[in-house]
Amino acid sequence: MIIFSAPSGAGKTTLVRHLLEQEELELAFSISATSRAARGAEVDGKDYYFLSNDDFNTKIEKGAFLEWEEVYAGTKYGTLRSEIERLWDLGKNVIFDIDVVGGLNLKSLYGDRALAVFVMPPDEVELEKRLRGRGTDSEDKIRQRMAKARKEIGRSDRFDHIILNRDLDKAKTEAKSLVKLFVGA
Ligand code: 5GP
Repeated sequence: MIIFSAPSGAGKTTLVRHLLEQEELELAFSISATSRAARGAEVDGKDYYFLSNDDFNTKIEKGAFLEWEEVYAGTKYGTLRSEIERLWDLGKNVIFDIDVVGGLNLKSLYGDRALAVFVMPPDEVELEKRLRGRGTDSEDKIRQRMAKARKEIGRSDRFDHIILNRDLDKAKTEAKSLVKLFVGA
C-alpha cells in the first residue's frame, strides 16, 4: 500500500497521477467513497464513488469501510474494504490519495506493508494561492481547508517520508524513487 496524504492543494493528486502513469510500479488507485457532490469533470466510479448521505451511513453500519471520516463538516469520505480487495485481486499495489488522519489510520492498520508519504506545500501563502487557483471552492470552503491544512502539517512527522512540493518536477522524481524502492520495481 502506498499512502499519499497532504493538505488539500499541496499537490498530492498531481503526484499520485504521475505515479499511476509509471507502468513498472503496477499501481492502482484506490477509489474512495464520498458523500459530497461531483466537482467539475469528476466521474463517478473513477474519481470517487459518489454516494448519498444515507447510502454512506448504511455502509458505515454494515462495516463496509476500512476507514472513514467526516473530513469536512457534513462531508464524509472513506475507503471501502471491497475496493482494496478488488485491486489486490488484480495483483496491484494500491495507492491512496487520502487525508492525513485517514492516512495515519491506514498506516497503523498495515504497518510495514504500507508506505506513508506526506506531501508538504512550500508555504501557507502558496497553498492558499493554489486553492484559489483551482476556482472550484467557495471562500468559506477555502478558509476551512486552510485551517485544516495547519493542523495536518503538525502531524507530518508521523509519516514515513515527507516530500516538499516546491518544485513539481523534483517532487515527482522523489515520489517515483521512493515508491520504486518500496515496491521493489
Ligand atoms: P476533495 O474534496 O478535495 O476531493 O478531498 C478532500 C479530502 O478528503 C482530501 O484530503 C482527500 O485526500 C480526502 N479523502 C479522499 N478520500 C478519502 C478517504 O477515503 N478517506 C479519508 N479519510 N479521506 C479521504
